[in-house]
Amino acid sequence: MERKEFRELTPVKEARKLISRIIARPGIQTLTIENSAGRILAEDIFSPVDVPAFNRSVKDGYAIRAKDTYRASEPEPMELKMTASIPAGCADSFFVNDGETAEISTGAPIPEGADAVVMVEQTKQIDSTVFIYQPVYINENIMKAGSDIMKGERVLRKNTRIGSREIGVLASVGMKEVPVKELLVGIISTGNELIEPGNTLGKGLIFDANSYAIAASVEEAGGIPKIYGIIPDDWKLMEEALYRAIRECHIVLTSGSTSAGVGDIMYMIIEEKGETLTHGIAIKPGKPVVIGMIEGVPTIGLPGNPTSALSIFNEFVAPIIHNSLGTTPSFRTKVRAVMGTGIRSGGREELFPVGVVRGRAYPADKTSGAITTLSDADGIIEIKAETEYIEAGSPVEITMFGNVRSPDLMYVGGQCPGIDLLEETTGMVFRMLNMSSSAGFTAIAGATTDIAGVNMPADPDGEYNLPTARKMNLSGTLLVKGYKREMGLIFRQGTRISGLEDLAGLRFLNRNRGSGTRAVLEMELGLLAKEKGITRNELTKDIDGYNSGSKTHRSVCDAIKDGRADVGFGLRAAAREAGLGFLPVTEDEFDLLIREDVLDVPEIRLLLKTLTSEEFSKSLPPGMRTYERTGEMISSF
Ligand code: AMP
Ligand code: MG
Repeated sequence: MERKEFRELTPVKEARKLISRIIARPGIQTLTIENSAGRILAEDIFSPVDVPAFNRSVKDGYAIRAKDTYRASEPEPMELKMTASIPAGCADSFFVNDGETAEISTGAPIPEGADAVVMVEQTKQIDSTVFIYQPVYINENIMKAGSDIMKGERVLRKNTRIGSREIGVLASVGMKEVPVKELLVGIISTGNELIEPGNTLGKGLIFDANSYAIAASVEEAGGIPKIYGIIPDDWKLMEEALYRAIRECHIVLTSGSTSAGVGDIMYMIIEEKGETLTHGIAIKPGKPVVIGMIEGVPTIGLPGNPTSALSIFNEFVAPIIHNSLGTTPSFRTKVRAVMGTGIRSGGREELFPVGVVRGRAYPADKTSGAITTLSDADGIIEIKAETEYIEAGSPVEITMFGNVRSPDLMYVGGQCPGIDLLEETTGMVFRMLNMSSSAGFTAIAGATTDIAGVNMPADPDGEYNLPTARKMNLSGTLLVKGYKREMGLIFRQGTRISGLEDLAGLRFLNRNRGSGTRAVLEMELGLLAKEKGITRNELTKDIDGYNSGSKTHRSVCDAIKDGRADVGFGLRAAAREAGLGFLPVTEDEFDLLIREDVLDVPEIRLLLKTLTSEEFSKSLPPGMRTYERTGEMISSF
């Protein structure tokens, strides 16, 4: 098969123009109001009734003729005769004459003859005599028929998105059913490597994320997703699926198979069966996006990478859905922020994912293809093709994803149950990138995080973390001593192991390079080697799996539980949580690095207060403890 080259990418501006002209024609469907949330009104709604339908009391009190109260006062109340009692929902007729009153409940119909209600607090009743202590004016405490909504009045506009308020209005005017637009959006995922969530992963397979993420996005935009499932990279099958979707839907979205790879044939089908409007937009991520028309149905081929697929959806597909429904996007709020760090770009226009923490935007781009970019980003910024560098502190506009709750603090560093506990105890939300101590040091140095969690040893007698801070020449940063953690070997109960010297012969799962815990192990193995009179390399070359690298304590425990490895090195707290065996080797020091420029923000103050609190100390899991240096701040390295 011929390989497609992306020679002529459509500039973003042109692509937007093209998009604005693509409109699908939705159908109309009648739904019961309880099933209509999230949908778009197909018609203006006029009230078939007056609301309220009768004059009604807005207070508990006494219906009277206002003129009977004009001379009422505290010292000289008016005396009226009570003739009736009218509860809400009462259908009987009553009449109030001069000198008379009827007791009335909130929501009950005003009796004939009465023109005001005195609230109960301004009265006193003794048997059938009611004393009125204050005058009321005509119509006081009465809601007139039709004063809320008049019969024939337009209560909701066509193209309104139906939410709780709209449903409340529809119910109030007595409507049980409502006409809504029906824009069916077919979703096809393509790729031999895909498997539905809920199944067991076979070799080389990944779960289909796009069908579900795109379906949710379609719903957010007001469309009705129709998932067609996974279609293998096969011309015939893809063609069949595409045709079925085109017959049944107003818009069709596919994902995967749009790049110029061998076997990537979706774009060729669109090209052959319909009209390709563009193949390739000059934007990062996700330039391989096909936009075409097949038999009048807009058909869009999104890139396979889930982050790219969602970014492109937001940018180019959501507008088509909104235009087709006649709505304006309500959920894509824009916020202003400043860049917390500089970012490099250039070449092509870019949709750059960022996390937003207290008005500062931080890059959330992992390697292309990382799913966590989706969960770590709060929105995107658009970077123009000519922009090569955005400096830290520059103002940016962020288009937020959905209704995200921006985190209070940004954390980069090693995964630690103590950090989870700090988050829980402070009640704040941390944006956590659990990578490694090295990543923590780097992020603090580059000012891309507020705090970092680190446990980097120096030499056996040296102090934790300080030497690395010194070596990196960290400035503008404080080292805050944290807590101590018991570390050792983690294994399934019953494994025969009595110390580090038994690692050879077992399948070992190491932590990732850059992890402090891995460095702690290296230090301990160095000591052992010295004892034995050999080099450390001689010792570690016999350890099966020494070069492996698992990202968190939890992932190490998981692998051991599943039998993918026999032994690992990490926290007693993690081993205990996983129900695994533990053999102590040493105790490390887990500290926090904090940028000085955020030291005074309330979130950091709260964090530091909590770190030194008794509550925190008491709640630490077994194998972790605060000590006399907890909370100590070191500012010059
Ligand atoms: P493609 O555009 O088919 O070359 O896919 C690009 C990348 O995205 C590949 O790594 C695919 O495995 C991945 N991918 C494609 N479709 C999906 C999907 N539905 N869910 C998750 N990943 C996908
Ligand atoms: Mg593919």
